[in-house]
Amino acid sequence: GARRETLLYLDGVNKTFDGFKAINNLSLVVQRGEMRAIIGPNGAGKTTMMDIITGKTRPDSGDVFFAGDVDLTKHDEASIASMGIGRKFQKPTVFEGLTVEKNLRLSLAGSRSVFEALLHKRSGEENDRVEEILHTTRMVDKRHRLAADLSHGQKQWLEIGMLLAQDPELLLVDEPVAGMTDAETEETARLLREIAEKHSVVVVEHDMHFVRALGVKVTCLHEGTVLSEGTLDHVSSDPRVIEVYLGR
Ligand code: ADP
Repeated sequence: GARRETLLYLDGVNKTFDGFKAINNLSLVVQRGEMRAIIGPNGAGKTTMMDIITGKTRPDSGDVFFAGDVDLTKHDEASIASMGIGRKFQKPTVFEGLTVEKNLRLSLAGSRSVFEALLHKRSGEENDRVEEILHTTRMVDKRHRLAADLSHGQKQWLEIGMLLAQDPELLLVDEPVAGMTDAETEETARLLREIAEKHSVVVVEHDMHFVRALGVKVTCLHEGTVLSEGTLDHVSSDPRVIEVYLGR
C-alpha cells in the first residue's frame, strides 16, 4: 500500500579525519520511494556522508541502516552496491568508445566480463529494459551514437541509465547538473522525478534552480550535521542557512 517506510536511516553518525570532525552527530532518514535533495556549503560533509552510505568510508560511530536491519557499517563497497545502492559520481565514467546502447547493455550484464557481455545473446527481457532506460534517459535517438560524441549533459544521463540498469533501490547522485546547460538542467529535473516514481533517490546539488525544479524535501548540511530540513522555501528562509551561505 501507500504506507511509507524507512529505506535509509542514519543516526548519530560521526567521522573524524586527522582530528577534524567531517561528520558530527549526523542523522538522516529517507523513506522508501522518496527523493531527497542534500545541499550545504563546501566542506559541509555531503561527500563524506555519501561515502559512508556506500561503504567507501567507515564512520567512527553511529548507526547506518538500509532496508530495515541491514547495518551498512558492517559491509564493504562492493557488497553495498550489490544490495541495491547505486552511486553516480559527478564525473561521468561511461565507455567512450562504445555506443549508448552498448554501454547500457554492459551495465545490464552486470558482473559478466566486457567480452562476454558484448557476445551475450540478447533476451527479450533485456531488450525491454534497454528500451525502457533509453526512453527514461532521453536517449532513444542517440542509441547508436558513440558515448564520446555525446554532450556533457547526455553523458550524465547515460550514466544515470547505466545505474538504472542495475535496478538499485536507492540511487545516490552527486551534482548531476554541474556543467549542464539550462535546458539540460530542466530536463534532468524531469528525468529524476520520473526515476523517483520507482526508486528512492538522494541527490547532492548546489544549483538551487534545479533543487526547486525537483520540488522535494531538502536537507541542508553544515559542519557535518543537519542545519535545516524541510521544503526548499522553509530551508532557504531559515536564518541559520542564510547566515551560512552569506556569512562566508
Ligand atoms: P562537501 O562534500 O560537503 O564539500 P566533504 O564531505 O567533502 O564536504 O568534506 C567535509 C570536510 O571533511 C572537509 O573539510 C574536508 O576537507 C574533510 N575531508 C573529507 N575527506 C577527507 C579525508 N579523506 N581526509 C581529510 N579530510 C577530509
